[in-house]
Amino acid sequence: MNLPNTNQKRIVVIGGGFAGISLVKKLKDLDAQIVMIDRHNYHTFQPLLYQVSTSGLEPDSIAYPIRKILKELNNFYFRLAEVQHIDPVKKEITTAIGILSFDYLVIATGTKTNYFNNENIAKNAMPMKTVPQALNIRSLILQNFEKADDTLEVSERKALLNFCIVGAGPTGVELAGALAELKQNVFPKDYKHLDIQEMQIHLFEGGPRVLPPMSETASKKATEFLDKLGVQIHLNTIVSDFDGKTVTLKDGKTLETKNFIWSAGVTGASIKGLTEDSLVARLNRYKVNTFNQVAGFENIFAIGDIAYMETVDFPKGHPQVAQPAIQQGENLAKNLKNLLANKPLKAFIYSDKGTMATVGRNKAVVDLKKLKFGGFLAWFIWMFVHLMALVGFRNRVIVFFNWAYNYINYDKAARLIVRPYTTKD
Ligand SMILES: Cc1cc2nc3c(=O)[nH]c(=O)nc-3n(C[C@H](O)[C@H](O)[C@H](O)COP(=O)(O)OP(=O)(O)OC[C@H]3O[C@@H](n4cnc5c(N)ncnc54)[C@H](O)[C@@H]3O)c2cc1C
Repeated sequence: MNLPNTNQKRIVVIGGGFAGISLVKKLKDLDAQIVMIDRHNYHTFQPLLYQVSTSGLEPDSIAYPIRKILKELNNFYFRLAEVQHIDPVKKEITTAIGILSFDYLVIATGTKTNYFNNENIAKNAMPMKTVPQALNIRSLILQNFEKADDTLEVSERKALLNFCIVGAGPTGVELAGALAELKQNVFPKDYKHLDIQEMQIHLFEGGPRVLPPMSETASKKATEFLDKLGVQIHLNTIVSDFDGKTVTLKDGKTLETKNFIWSAGVTGASIKGLTEDSLVARLNRYKVNTFNQVAGFENIFAIGDIAYMETVDFPKGHPQVAQPAIQQGENLAKNLKNLLANKPLKAFIYSDKGTMATVGRNKAVVDLKKLKFGGFLAWFIWMFVHLMALVGFRNRVIVFFNWAYNYINYDKAARLIVRPYTTKD
């Protein structure tokens, strides 16, 4: 790889997500060469991907160039590549563009979609983890509406207008709410000759309630909001197959759909090379100590979703959400500085700021430590927190004006099939 030779220590960071970015931002004055490698040249604000899928926002308002975020660092190098292998003995990583040695390695690769070894579902479902995938969903929804508008055959039209979302975590719930909003406020104006009641939104959840990671209060409120929006919730329901046309449930029931979105779970985006002892195989997350050092190594760290740290307060590891990733990145920055200065390391302590999810226009649920509530105020707080968390002033302004425009006009302006999606049938 074409990087300058230096006497400085080299810190290689794999992944420019919440964890990797928050770490490197804090390494500004460190006397070391810092190299970040990511398969995308931009950071993705994943919490708003569902708004790209449902035509609420354009992708460039939730993604930001990594080089631009970290432009203030003089000792920083970005390389666009997929990391394929880690050799902890030689202290090298292998990437699609060459081999790179490191003194310290930070793995911040996050997660990938988990299909639970179901090959049919992996082949035919629409995942929503990246900007290209969100754009695929947007195109598919709009293309299927175009087809439905021109289809006389009733069963075919119903399949085109049938939406199945699997997994009622925050992603599934937010997506279902946004689709219901399209059904209520937007599509009836675009497709005047279609019977909009033929658009059905099904939300499948294997567990007994929606929003399993949140409180009972949040779950009840979200169910109430989804019911009002006309979303059909199927609890304790396992989806066992989807062949591109027919959804099969574990109890044998079937449903026809051309829109099958999978938000049922994630698994760590681990990289080949480290010993099996370093991984929690079930979760594909790297076991780390309280300094985020990967089990068995002093110079290899994992932070964010990919890191599995058991603590008294979090005996099953930290939740795979943005805050632990950001906070671990910031703590590791302090520790890398300590390491280079031969000072003791500081243990990571997670400060839980709460969780929230939005359910369509005007409604959200918020879980804080001592307060749990839902409704308009929760929605307002949700908007404010997400606006402030977006990277870049430009993106904040664009998102703010989009939201204001959509709110006032009951509209979603990004209803464009720019890059048509080719279905696998
Ligand atoms: C649809 C969706 C909605 C979400 N909503 C919320 C929410 O509302 N609130 C919340 O707190 N959290 C939410 N999350 C979770 C949150 O986005 C994650 O917890 C957070 O992104 C974790 O940060 P990270 O840095 O660990 O990983 P990521 O942000 O996923 O970053 C990982 C980076 O590593 C790169 N990468 C991975 N493997 C390789 C490789 N082999 N080579 C090169 N680069 C690689 C990826 O391209 C990516 O840029 C949501 C997630 C999704 C998918």
